[in-house]
Amino acid sequence: MQNYDIVIVGAGAAGLSAALYATRRKLTTLVLSRDLGGQTSTTMDIENYPGVDFSTGPDLMDRFADQVKKFGATIQLEGVTEISKDPNGFILRGDMGGDYHARAVILAFGKSHRHLGVPGEAEFLNRGVVYCATCDAPMFEGKTVAVIGGGNAAMDAALLLTKIASKIYLVHRRDDFRAEGILVDKVRSNPKIELVLNSTVKTIKGGQFVNAITVTTPGGDREIAAEGVFVEVGQEVFTDFVKELVRLSETGEIVIDNFNQTSQPGVFAAGDVTTVPFKQTVISAGEGAKAALAAYNYLQGREPDAKFADQGYIK
Ligand code: NAP
Repeated sequence: MQNYDIVIVGAGAAGLSAALYATRRKLTTLVLSRDLGGQTSTTMDIENYPGVDFSTGPDLMDRFADQVKKFGATIQLEGVTEISKDPNGFILRGDMGGDYHARAVILAFGKSHRHLGVPGEAEFLNRGVVYCATCDAPMFEGKTVAVIGGGNAAMDAALLLTKIASKIYLVHRRDDFRAEGILVDKVRSNPKIELVLNSTVKTIKGGQFVNAITVTTPGGDREIAAEGVFVEVGQEVFTDFVKELVRLSETGEIVIDNFNQTSQPGVFAAGDVTTVPFKQTVISAGEGAKAALAAYNYLQGREPDAKFADQGYIK
């Protein structure tokens, strides 16, 4: 069993920012995560992170990770399957067999891709059906593709694909977009993108690989030839494994207070996995910092809002 002051679950903006603040308070810190960078890493163009004019998501998250490692945190690519209480804190079980003891835990494992749930989606997974444009767009050089969704992720995917694919259908279930106006304007004015609005995907078809989708439109069903289907219909939380440990909202998000405390003393949470509104990289980064500072106070036996002494951390 390896022992740490803090184990952070998740290595996106919230988890890495928490690790930065924890290590700078001289807490021994382990970050356990299935991937590095979380949802931000799946975004190609970041233009709304303050102080950073432009960055790709993976580059920004690599910078977060490098900074965290510089201050001594360990980042380990291992998912967490179970968290249980013990008299001195918590035991976390990793999906690669690791057992870790933490005096405090920060849950920052974000959300995962929502699926459409239509015939063909599971069958053609990674054979034309993909969920990460940043990762998978290069496989569709010169091809016709469909992007499904009307949020920022769908706009980002469609715009990225204009540089790679020959034609992009953007299929959205309404005629209004929830994405930022600036992104919608770019999509609307790009001649490579054809909007298919008020339309839902009925089936995804193909042989060895995807070759078409059928969409239900106001005028009836329409078949669209496409070799790639980028599903960008939002994210869902997968918090089942912590439902006995912390209180969840009706939608499965982890309920936190202003100091990122969950219902379980010693367990804090930050970022998209929590009930905090406006899921954005900058917000997750701020929430991660708050969670680490509150956890530091907890480990010092103080109230979460206690002012920080400069004398450093005393076990
Ligand atoms: P999102 O904002 O929740 O949008 C999901 C989209 O998918 C919506 O248009 C929704 O339609 C549609 N949708 C949901 N379920 C569907 C279904 N079963 N079938 C068909 N369509 C469905 O999710 P997101 O775009 O993944 O973004 C998630 C968060 O990350 C957001 O807060 C976003 O701002 C942020 N993000 C930001 C950037 C950026 O700033 N560049 C990039 C990526 C993501 P309705 O609109 O009809 O509900």
